[in-house]
Amino acid sequence: MIDLERIRADFPGLAQEVHGKPLVFLDNAASAQKPRAVIDAVAHHYAHDYANVHRGVHQLAERATDAYEGAREKVRAFLNAPARHEIVFVRGTTEAINLVAASWGRHSLRAGDEVVITEMEHHANIVPWQLMAEQIGFQIKVAPILDDGSLDMEALAALLSERTRLVAVTHMSNVLGTVNPIREIVDMAHAHGALCLVDGAQSVSHLPVDVQDLGCDFYAFSGHKLFGPTGIGVLWAREELLEAMPPYQGGGEMIREVSFERSTWAELPYKFEAGTPHIVGAIGLGAAIDYVNGIGLAAIEAYEAELLAYATEVLNSVPGVRIIGTAPHKGSVLSFVMDCAHPHDIGTLLDAEGVAVRAGHHCAMPLMERLGLPATARASFAFYNTREEADALVAALHKVREIFA
Ligand code: PLP
Repeated sequence: MIDLERIRADFPGLAQEVHGKPLVFLDNAASAQKPRAVIDAVAHHYAHDYANVHRGVHQLAERATDAYEGAREKVRAFLNAPARHEIVFVRGTTEAINLVAASWGRHSLRAGDEVVITEMEHHANIVPWQLMAEQIGFQIKVAPILDDGSLDMEALAALLSERTRLVAVTHMSNVLGTVNPIREIVDMAHAHGALCLVDGAQSVSHLPVDVQDLGCDFYAFSGHKLFGPTGIGVLWAREELLEAMPPYQGGGEMIREVSFERSTWAELPYKFEAGTPHIVGAIGLGAAIDYVNGIGLAAIEAYEAELLAYATEVLNSVPGVRIIGTAPHKGSVLSFVMDCAHPHDIGTLLDAEGVAVRAGHHCAMPLMERLGLPATARASFAFYNTREEADALVAALHKVREIFA
């Protein structure tokens, strides 16, 4: 059960007014608010335990290293990854996918190979593959979506062949809310000898993730969408893949020995963590994971399903509103357009009513083209949002109609 009153009191950012109205924060797909537990963990670490990690011989370095490596263990448990050294700290989902493209992609892909992505991908799971394809000459194939925003599984199956080396797919669409059947996609990829990378940027804050159950080969997510700090994220990959992959960046931390002739690499995961890492970011992410676990992702998923059903119903009651993305399995994202107003005008008017949504292409320009839309407005819900906030969104949309219709 979700104790909304207690949960909302944990998020200082929610308890404020904007433009003289109570804030209704519905921009969680872009980045989520932070609970006091995360803010305190970050402040505590800077105030009491701060030093650079690893190789330190003094007390603070030891404490910092323990906290940083402790956060890695929390991430491992959160994803149910087999081993802690398979957890690589990166800046976010974007860097995680760039790491895989630049390291695994450059090392393993050849001209004539194919990487399959989908029409609903965020730019973060398109452009890294394009950058690498330009250098190597492999092909990028795109699996289409159906009109309701589901992935067209038959078309995906038809795209796969012995040329397919990787299927790179989002777990949950940041525009449509669609939750993809990852286990099925992984099995299809593996049946063709291909690997599967999952973009978990949107999913980790909405549903339980178990990489062993999913069976995928790479999983990427960002701390800031999981109620943690910005600038920290995670790449999980199978040990044998990470072992075979060359380093992504060179510098300190990632080496075993360096001479002017040649260098050798540190063991996993440090081979992929060149330079001083975002120590306090990782610790804050660990605190965010503890916080989310305290509520429980199964409870979060159940609560948000109910909230999404309610919000969908009331949004559909506003004349001239069309919801974009109606797949049967959806997370709590509501993209929509109105017949009377441009999404950017909707966003600006909602802001004046205290309702924070996002308007634009949501870093998914090819998807917008497929949908035949320049932009959508997007209300995205977290477990701290309420039915009353969905009502506030709808009341504000009625004002939009009064002004524009
Ligand atoms: N993938 C998806 C589905 C996203 O929604 C986002 C961010 O909105 C990203 C990737 C990129 O995440 P980040 O900007 O944290 O690297």
